Amino acid sequence: MPLLKSWIESANSPDTDFPLNNLPLGVFTVDDLPRCGVAIGDRILDATGLEEAGLLRLDAAPVLDIPFWNEVMELGPEAWAALRARLHDLLREGAPEQDKVAPFLHPMESAELHMPLAVAEFTDFYAGRHHATNVGTMFRGAENALPPNWLHIPIGYNGRASSVVVSGTDIRRPWGQLKGPDESAPRFAPSARFDLELELGAIVGQNSDGPVTVAEADDMIFGYVLLNDWSARDIQAWEYQPLGPFQAKATATSISPWLVMRAALEPFRCATPPREVPLLPHLEEPAPMLYDIALEVDLTPEGGSPTTIARTNYREMYYSSAQQLAHHTTSGCPMNVGDLLGSGTISGPTKDSRGSLLELSWGGKEPITVGNQTRSFLEDGDTITLRGAAHGDGYRIGFGPCTGKLLPAIPDPYAR
Ligand code: MN
Repeated sequence: MPLLKSWIESANSPDTDFPLNNLPLGVFTVDDLPRCGVAIGDRILDATGLEEAGLLRLDAAPVLDIPFWNEVMELGPEAWAALRARLHDLLREGAPEQDKVAPFLHPMESAELHMPLAVAEFTDFYAGRHHATNVGTMFRGAENALPPNWLHIPIGYNGRASSVVVSGTDIRRPWGQLKGPDESAPRFAPSARFDLELELGAIVGQNSDGPVTVAEADDMIFGYVLLNDWSARDIQAWEYQPLGPFQAKATATSISPWLVMRAALEPFRCATPPREVPLLPHLEEPAPMLYDIALEVDLTPEGGSPTTIARTNYREMYYSSAQQLAHHTTSGCPMNVGDLLGSGTISGPTKDSRGSLLELSWGGKEPITVGNQTRSFLEDGDTITLRGAAHGDGYRIGFGPCTGKLLPAIPDPYAR
C-alpha cells in the first residue's frame, strides 16, 4: 500500500503520524465544547462540524453530537468502512469539496485532546512471553517463571474503566499497603516502586453475548490505542496472590488521544510467534492477527531531556487481541462497545526492548542510565512518553504520543 496523497500538504510528509492512510479518531477542543475529530497531518478535521453541515452522514440521526466515537462503533463494520471512504473522498489530493472542508480544519498544536471514547470496561492481559518470563523469574524464580496455564490461555484480570485517562493527564504517586521487613508487619506508605507498562489497547466495537471465534473477535475490534498501565510493584508484590493485581493497577491507565482504526493497520498484519505447545482449537489464529508496530518508551526527568529507555514491537506478543477477546467470551461473558483490552506489557528478547522499569532495572538490582541520572523505578516529576507507529513505504501510521507525568504522593490521607 503506497502513501495516499492528500491536499493537506503536511499529511504527505514521511514524518507525520497522520497521513491520509491513517485517519485516527479523537476528541478535541479548540475554544468551545469537545468535538469528534480526525487527525490529518498537523491538522484536526472537525468531524462533528462536518456532520452538522451535512458533509458527513453516517446514519439517519447524528452520531457525532456526543464527543465520543462510541456511537460510530455501534453502527458496525459497514459504517466504519463508509466513514473511512467518505473521509478519504474529502481529503484526497484533488478532492472536489476542498473549499467546503477547509473551514473545518484546526491546527493540532492549539487543540486540547480528550478521551476518544467512553470506556465501557477495562481488562488487562499478561500476554507477552518475554515480559511474563522476566517478571516470573524475578517473582518466582527461573524454574517457575511461566505458570502452567500460560502457554494455553491469555491470562488477564478485570481492571477499572474509571482509571483510564487520556494522554497528558498527570498521574499521582499512590499510597498503598506494602510488605514490611517481615510478613506480619505490613506498612502503609507511598509506593516506592512505581512503574510504567508499555502496551497496546484494543477497542471492542461490537457487542457479543456468548462465545465468539477468534475470527469473529477480530471483526469485532474497532481499533487500537497506545496504553500505559501504570503499576505499583511494591503494592502488587504484597497483594497479588491469589487473586491477581488490584490496587497496584488501579491508580491510572493512560491511553493515546488517537484511536487508530483496524482498517489503517491492515497492511501491517503479522502472525504470532511459533507455539511451543499447540493451543486448543478454539484459540488458534485462522490468519495473522498481530501487527508490525514499532514501539518506544521515553523517560524525561523533571527539567531534563528525554531518554529512550526501550524499543520493541507489538509483533513480539504471544497472543493477539483477537485471541484475548475470544478467550474473554468463552464463559459467556458479555462484551460491549467501548470495552478496552490491554495487550499486556510488550517486551522484546533483548535488555533494551523491555517494556517496564521492573524488567529494565531487573527489579531495581541493575539501575538504568537516564541522561546523567539513574533509575530503578519512577521518580517524582518523571514524564513517560510512549510512541508507536507502523512503517509503510514513505509513510507511517502513528498514534501520537501517550504521555503522563508522575506527581508526588499526597500527604498521608489517614494522618490525624
Ligand atoms: Mn499491564
